[in-house]
Amino acid sequence: MSSVKERFLRYVQVETTSCEANEGCPSTPGQKVLGEMLARELREMGVSGARMDEHGYVYGTIPAKGDGKRPAIGLIAHMDTSDAVPGATVPQVIPDYDGKAIRLKSGTVIDGFPFLPSLKGKELIVASGDSVLGADDKAGVAEIMTLCERMLSPDAPDHGKICVAFTPDEEIGRGADLFDVEGFGADFAYTVDGGALGELEYECFNAASCRVIVKGISIHPGNAKNQMVNACLVAMEFAGMLPPWERPEHTEKYEGFYHLNGMSGTEEGAELRYILRDHDLAKLEEKKATMTAVCELLNRRYGEGTVSLEIRDSYRNMKEIVEQYPDILERAKQAFLGNGVQPIIKPIRGGTDGAQLSFRGLPCPNLSTGGYNFHGKKELIPVEAMEKMTEVLVSIVSA
Ligand SMILES: [Zn+2]
Repeated sequence: MSSVKERFLRYVQVETTSCEANEGCPSTPGQKVLGEMLARELREMGVSGARMDEHGYVYGTIPAKGDGKRPAIGLIAHMDTSDAVPGATVPQVIPDYDGKAIRLKSGTVIDGFPFLPSLKGKELIVASGDSVLGADDKAGVAEIMTLCERMLSPDAPDHGKICVAFTPDEEIGRGADLFDVEGFGADFAYTVDGGALGELEYECFNAASCRVIVKGISIHPGNAKNQMVNACLVAMEFAGMLPPWERPEHTEKYEGFYHLNGMSGTEEGAELRYILRDHDLAKLEEKKATMTAVCELLNRRYGEGTVSLEIRDSYRNMKEIVEQYPDILERAKQAFLGNGVQPIIKPIRGGTDGAQLSFRGLPCPNLSTGGYNFHGKKELIPVEAMEKMTEVLVSIVSA
């Protein structure tokens, strides 16, 4: 069995679902179980300084081999899985996929996805049907681990210093929070956390969140004439004044949005919770300005102080950093092309740990893992894609 496949099949059986409600890092103990396992395997391979820190971050380095002129390159994957569906699966292997509907053990059927026919003849790994597979991002973990094994073998090509890290709690947005950028020691890095083979991503959203607080005037409805200001209705007016076509369900590609992701209220007080997203920072600022303008308009209508806003910035588009280092993207493109894979460059409609790391001085675009249907029971990955991705990583560090 190929090493990357064997590793992947083992790692996905460890329960590492992260949990937003838990304060500590890692947010769940299973992540440290996998972390220990990875640190031990790195040590056994001979990776220098292989260790897991108190928060569950795993680090290790492989010294440069050859002329010493190559940059120090980091490779990063996350160990946790999304809590959208239960974690830890008993993976199933389909040796020679026929391109048709796949019935999983639980009865769940994988069908109707446009990419399925293109995987005909491949060896697929799927979940049991009642959990995620965890290719997001244990495929990235297995590929980086296999890369380490390859680069420590006697016939490895010359390469620069290789810095690897496995992080906890990426799925709950905290994967970069306690990342030791300085100790990591890379000049730049790649997260291996994307989907279909060939994906190369270096643009993500600029993000902010906004709380809209409405103060109403509550009076017995029988005596309310010309007196009551119903906070719930004012909140609904607020929501109605934002452009309906700029919602997640009506946007794609580079289109940003206003997303109402929570609301509560009575006549006396109401609250709306929004997230605002746009790849273009100026357009995100316009969205904030629109929120403010709607707020002011409603205050003119219902009285000063009726509506107030709390706007907070969340993360920024890493493009503005990564673009300053075109060599990093070129290196990845050439590595894909050199292995017969057409690079697929597209904007991420979300954020990545790489975005936060880029702004902390470690430029960090994202590479494919080779997997599909992340965060669901129908997740799958072809073994051939993981093997190819390992080759791509070899090309990246040895170019
Ligand atoms: Zn991921």
